[in-house]
Amino acid sequence: MPPAAKRDPSANAFDLPQAAAGPTTTVEKAAPKPVAKSHAQKSLEKLGLRTDIELALHLPLRYEDETQIIAIAQARHGELVQVEGVVTDSQISLNSRRQLRVTIDDGSDSCVLRFLNFYPSHQKTLSVGARVRARGEMRGGFVGREMVHPSFKLAGGELPGSLTPVYSTVAGLPQSYLRKAVLSGLARADLAETIPAAFLNRELPAEIWSLREALQFMHHPKPDAGLAILEDRRHPAWQRLKAEELLAQQLSQLQARRVRAAMRAPPLAGSPQNKGKKGVDLHTSLQAQLQEGLPFQLTQAQQRVGDEIAEDLQKQIPMHRLLQGDVGSGKTVVAALAAARCIDAGWQCALMAPTEILAEQHFSKLISWLEPLGIKTAWLTGSQKTKARREALAMIASGEAGLVIGTHAVIQDKVKFKNLALAIIDEQHRFGVAQRLALRSKMTDGGQEPHLLMMTATPIPRTLAMSYYADLDVSTIDELPPGRTPIITRVVNDARRDEVIDRIRAQVEQGRQVYWVCPLIEESESIDLVNATETHELLSAALPDAMVGLLHSRMPTAEKKARMALFNQGQMSVLVSTTVIEVGVDVPNASLMVIEHAERFGLSQLHQLRGRVGRGAAASACVLLYSTGDAPRLGETARARLKAMVETNDGFEIARRDLEIRGPGEFLGARQSGASLLRFADLEEDAQWLAWARALAPQLLESHPGLVQRHILRWLGAKSDYLKA
Ligand code: ADP
Ligand code: MG
Repeated sequence: MPPAAKRDPSANAFDLPQAAAGPTTTVEKAAPKPVAKSHAQKSLEKLGLRTDIELALHLPLRYEDETQIIAIAQARHGELVQVEGVVTDSQISLNSRRQLRVTIDDGSDSCVLRFLNFYPSHQKTLSVGARVRARGEMRGGFVGREMVHPSFKLAGGELPGSLTPVYSTVAGLPQSYLRKAVLSGLARADLAETIPAAFLNRELPAEIWSLREALQFMHHPKPDAGLAILEDRRHPAWQRLKAEELLAQQLSQLQARRVRAAMRAPPLAGSPQNKGKKGVDLHTSLQAQLQEGLPFQLTQAQQRVGDEIAEDLQKQIPMHRLLQGDVGSGKTVVAALAAARCIDAGWQCALMAPTEILAEQHFSKLISWLEPLGIKTAWLTGSQKTKARREALAMIASGEAGLVIGTHAVIQDKVKFKNLALAIIDEQHRFGVAQRLALRSKMTDGGQEPHLLMMTATPIPRTLAMSYYADLDVSTIDELPPGRTPIITRVVNDARRDEVIDRIRAQVEQGRQVYWVCPLIEESESIDLVNATETHELLSAALPDAMVGLLHSRMPTAEKKARMALFNQGQMSVLVSTTVIEVGVDVPNASLMVIEHAERFGLSQLHQLRGRVGRGAAASACVLLYSTGDAPRLGETARARLKAMVETNDGFEIARRDLEIRGPGEFLGARQSGASLLRFADLEEDAQWLAWARALAPQLLESHPGLVQRHILRWLGAKSDYLKA
């Protein structure tokens, strides 16, 4: 569902509601045009408006003032106005582009209505002699006044007594129809209070209205309510909706947590196979063995999160934990320790990564730690040969493989575990909710759930953690392994590419390695960016004595692996690649990262990429090459992203800025949009309400479980299921 009433990207576009970019919707006759029922119904469904309450909560994007008509002569340039006049001329002009030009005159002056997209129905309504009302932005020029793409209707009927709400809609669903549907939804919806008055009167941050009052106010603006009042989010009506929404979110998270607490998971405490066996009194656990064999000491942060995880795993309640730590903070070893504990207790552990390269790169180290301890690993990937796959499946089903590693292949139906007890998901934000649910359902023993450990290098800002992820325990690695030097980041115009190549040469001469990342090229060959292949040729020519390799996503997997191996082993000095190396690749000798067309990448993606360098002790740098194309300068958000990259190396700060630049909806990723995002509340702005809802949720669940169910259903409907994943 679009974040109705939230931001209105078309705030200045007077003529159309945001999503209705077709000319049909500009035609607004006095009586709503009859629309085929099924079609309108489908359009409503597209908007996520199926039930009365969903309709009632579909708030206006904005309001229009149709209460006044002004004389054309009095309309100032740039002003949004409604005028009424008689059509004196109507013609299709073919000057530079086919367009409909209609002149209306109201006695004070005349004005041209200009349409670049139009249908015969426009011409019909706007025929000479017709009296019409037009609303739009008045432009005054040398050639006279005009309105481009105004909304219009035949004049007649009284002027409305109040402001007209405008709803976000889809093409083919006229405002008038939608408005009626919303109002009748509002009339029918059950708006009985679900928050007992006692809870509403206590120490509230603001005056608060009832839900019914609030919705009535928004949909039926009083004649005297000005635009400013309606759009002021501090208004009591808004306060009420924000409070309701945040409470629904907190309640559903809390409920999900309780549901999970009632589920059972195998407690992974020690090594049952050895307990009580004769002659075995001193068992060195696999974790202890693993830790002893490591070439380094765990950082304090790793130790701490490792303990938090171990604590969870001992319990009979399934763990639901997010391990967050900046790129390079050493999450893999923490995962390995958890896996060792699980396998030690006689259960299977599955590790899932978003790409094959990542699965391989990232976990080769993990395997090299675990296999010497006698742990058998099975691999599952999409590109596997049938025979290899069959063998892997057999090992997993029999329990011979304690550790199962792979990509999405791990959650396919054919994969049957003997006794999965721990599922670890790396780079969890790259997986959808459905995939996470599928992994959890892999536990064969009915009634039990595996423990779930998710890892991410994109930390969740605190406000988000408190709201969307309230049913998630979070462990944070807030310390990098010792001896790292901070990465210096520079933003460089693409025109200075030669200087960058000189820098690469200098690094290579010192025996260092370099990544050069190009944006992923999708199907289009005509895209006007220097693609990876060309860059590869350019660099090969510029560095005749070094090995320059190319890696792109459409290469066969075997080829990718072979090239990656050359880079890993240090023979290859420069690796030119599309974003396949985005996550998880670990080559400590790499000290320079060049990102081409950096302006096209998202902030957290840039940060992830940058994290590929600075893994060893050498001073490392990241060069963000940008190009403005034909534009004189970079766009605002692109500039904000690059600036953030230069200013901080801290993943948490990056995440915070990313949230600021993109807003929570996008931050969470389109895939998770099923997890109903906030439409009315703003986590930063409404922090007080968030705190109120957090405190209230457990009390309410305790004292009024029935009301809680109604409240969740009202606000989240079927979506509440998604929040459990
Ligand atoms: P990420 O958190 O990005 O997954 P990795 O687990 O890949 O990070 O770790 C980054 C690098 O740091 C690896 O080479 C890893 O072996 C190394 N490393 C991890 N923990 C430590 C530590 N405590 N001391 C030194 N090096 C470490
Ligand atoms: Mg990692």
